Amino acid sequence: MGNHGKVALVTGGARGIGLGIAAKLAEAGFTLAISGRRSLEQVQPALDEIRKHSPASIYAQADVSSGEDRRRLLQAVEESFGRLDVLVNNAGIAPRVRADILDAQEDSFDELIATNLKGPYFLTQAVAAWMIRQHASDPAVHRSIVNISSVSATVASVNRGDYCISKAGIAMATRLWAVRLAEYGIGVYEVRPGIIESDMTAGVRGKYDALIEAGLLLEKRWGTAADVGRAVCLLASGELPYATGAVLVVDGGLTLPRL
Ligand code: NDP
Repeated sequence: MGNHGKVALVTGGARGIGLGIAAKLAEAGFTLAISGRRSLEQVQPALDEIRKHSPASIYAQADVSSGEDRRRLLQAVEESFGRLDVLVNNAGIAPRVRADILDAQEDSFDELIATNLKGPYFLTQAVAAWMIRQHASDPAVHRSIVNISSVSATVASVNRGDYCISKAGIAMATRLWAVRLAEYGIGVYEVRPGIIESDMTAGVRGKYDALIEAGLLLEKRWGTAADVGRAVCLLASGELPYATGAVLVVDGGLTLPRL
C-alpha cells in the first residue's frame, strides 16, 4: 500500500522541526495528525500547509505532559481515522533559563522531564497497546515509532543539565521500546538532530553562528527542519529495514570525534 492510507501522529507538528517532519510525511503520502498546546486558530496556517498534500489531516490541541490530554489526543486520532501507523515523539522544550547545574532549580527539571521524557514515554505506551491490537488483525503493515532526541543525549552542556538528562532518557526509552515491540513488527528508532534552525535555537543564533564559522561542524551550515523530516520519513516509510533500535544522527558531523 506504500504510505497512502497510513496515518502518522507528530507531536509538536505545527512548527519548527515537527512541521518539517509532518510536511515531509504528508508529501510522502501519509495522512497526518499533528498536536501541540496552541489553539486550532493559531496553527491553522501550518495545518493548511500540510493539507496541500494530505487534505484529511487534523490538528488536536494536547499538552504531551498531561495524561488526560494524551488520552484525548489518541481518541481524536481513533475517531478521525480508526488507525495509527506511525508515532513521532517530537514535541519538546528547552529550559526556560539556561542555568549552571550548580544553581539550577527543581521546577525546571520537573518541567523538562515531564514534557521531553515522561510524556513521550507514556504516549508510546498507549500507542504501543493500540499498535499491538492493529498488528493482530493486520500483521503485514509496517508500523513505527520515532523519537526525536538530540545530540544532548550524549554531549554534556552544564548550563542545561535537565535538557541533557531528558534527551539521554528518551534515547534509553527508544532502546526499551525497540526490544519490547519487536515481536509485533513495530520498529522503534531515534533521530538525533544537532543544531537546527527553529524557534528553540533563535535565542542562541549568534553563539552557534560563531561556533559553526570556527569549524564545529563537518557540514558547515545550520541544519533545517527539512533535514530532520527526511530522516524521519525514511524510517516511517519502512525504507530502513532490519534496523530497529537504530540511532540516525542528523548533526552535520557535530558529534564525530576528531583529533
Ligand atoms: P520549537 O520550540 O521550535 O517547537 C517545539 C514544538 O513542541 C512546538 O510544536 C510546540 O508546540 C511543541 N511542544 C512544546 N511543549 C509541548 C507540550 N507540553 N505539549 C505539546 N507540544 C509541545 O522546537 P524545535 O522544533 O527546535 O524542537 C522540536 C524537537 O526537536 C524537540 O524535542 C527538541 O528538543 C528537538 N531538538 C531540537 C534541536 C534544535 O536545534 N532546534 C536540536 C535537537 C533536538 P506548541 O507551541 O504549539 O505547544
